[in-house]
Amino acid sequence: MSEPVQKVDVAIVGGGMAGASLALMLTHFCPQLSVALLEQRALPDASASVQLPSFDTRATAIAAGSLQLFQQLGLWPALREYSAPIQSIQVSDKGHSLGVSLSAREQERVSFEGMLGVVIENAALGPILHRALAETPVKILAPARVSSVHMEAAGAMLRWSAGEQSPEYCLTSGLLVVADGVGSPLCRQLGIEFDTIKYQQRALVTTVGLQRDHGGVAFERFTNSGPMALLPLPSREGQHRAALVWACPDKEAEALCAMPEDERLRRLQKSFGWRAGRFVRAGALQGHPLSLSLAREQWRRNVVLIGNCAHFLHPVAGQGFNLTLRDCYTLAQALTGEQPVQGSQAQLKRLQTYGRNRSFDQQLTVGFSDRIPALFTSGNPIQQFVRQMGMLGLTLVPPLRAQFVSQAAGFGL
Ligand SMILES: Cc1cc2nc3c(=O)[nH]c(=O)nc-3n(C[C@H](O)[C@H](O)[C@H](O)COP(=O)(O)OP(=O)(O)OC[C@H]3O[C@@H](n4cnc5c(N)ncnc54)[C@H](O)[C@@H]3O)c2cc1C
Repeated sequence: MSEPVQKVDVAIVGGGMAGASLALMLTHFCPQLSVALLEQRALPDASASVQLPSFDTRATAIAAGSLQLFQQLGLWPALREYSAPIQSIQVSDKGHSLGVSLSAREQERVSFEGMLGVVIENAALGPILHRALAETPVKILAPARVSSVHMEAAGAMLRWSAGEQSPEYCLTSGLLVVADGVGSPLCRQLGIEFDTIKYQQRALVTTVGLQRDHGGVAFERFTNSGPMALLPLPSREGQHRAALVWACPDKEAEALCAMPEDERLRRLQKSFGWRAGRFVRAGALQGHPLSLSLAREQWRRNVVLIGNCAHFLHPVAGQGFNLTLRDCYTLAQALTGEQPVQGSQAQLKRLQTYGRNRSFDQQLTVGFSDRIPALFTSGNPIQQFVRQMGMLGLTLVPPLRAQFVSQAAGFGL
């Protein structure tokens, strides 16, 4: 192996959905910057075809606003191949007849090519991002686990290695982007604290087989055990499929995960109801612990946080990655210009601008993701009344509905 790169303008630590997306945006919008991406796990070979496990995977709803960004990056054709369009969203409260239906046809202002968004399995999204990266000048270091970071006046000095038996290397960068996920060890090294609320819930995730076509409908269903989302997926081998995400209390989640498939199938059907027809198959449930985790600082001199390490949200409204994409875009816009980024006063100003421009959308999206599940799982009659009135308002007042869809579709307000 040739001696790895030693100095770059921007070093991104973490090659997950956030880090990989930012790297693509930087190389597209800020070609003057040299960028390195360090990921502790090996990435699949760029030539490898997308491998999709059938029935045990997480999927991501990508909103219309985010698709516009991916289109600018030239990734829309690849995304379209592996995703299912969302033509409409149906929000309902189990046990109550009122519900809201939002369609792309009605909401042209916030749709993309006639859809409100798409749903793609993460197992397909990751390789699409990584294959696109392999065709850019971004220096990809993987496997490369960053073990320590030392801040200097002109930037960051990172120590990394490819594994326990491998030599350690140093990399200096004018700007350090931390994208190493929720609870980020790197942030802790930097003394960045988090405000965290544990929801005592798990997001149970699986793929279900449907007897009939989903027709591009994304269902958001609020049940007494927590919100359930059923998201359209592309059919495979003649099987209609949907991704199910059910946020339910820890204890119930444990019991559900231990159920055999036939019992699990009955339970999922009973809890979700029949709006999407009969469930004919359900893969194993994977549980993801849920919390709200917000970094107290998202940027400081020579450092910026992106993705789950900056804000980890309840997945109820499918907002986390979409919010991150808007952050990445704004950061890339703040760093455009002729000067390479060097731990300077000018760079600090750009980060300030970035922070200011992102604060409103972040607060709104965090509040939306935090309050909706609490409101919709409450058995309190006053809160039940409030949510029924909310549904009625969304049904009857077009501007309210347009605002709601605009937020949900990733355009902000
Ligand atoms: C159940 C569920 C469903 C969701 N559904 C949606 C949805 O429908 N729509 C939506 O917009 N969002 C959704 N989200 C949110 C979305 O998944 C996150 O926004 C996304 O995963 C952010 O990823 P990340 O890159 O920040 O973190 P991660 O995916 O955790 O990536 C961090 C990366 O950093 C690497 N790393 C860590 N430490 C180091 C180190 N020291 N050195 C080098 N590399 C390191 C890790 O290996 C990893 O690859 C959902 C979340 C959950 C939990």
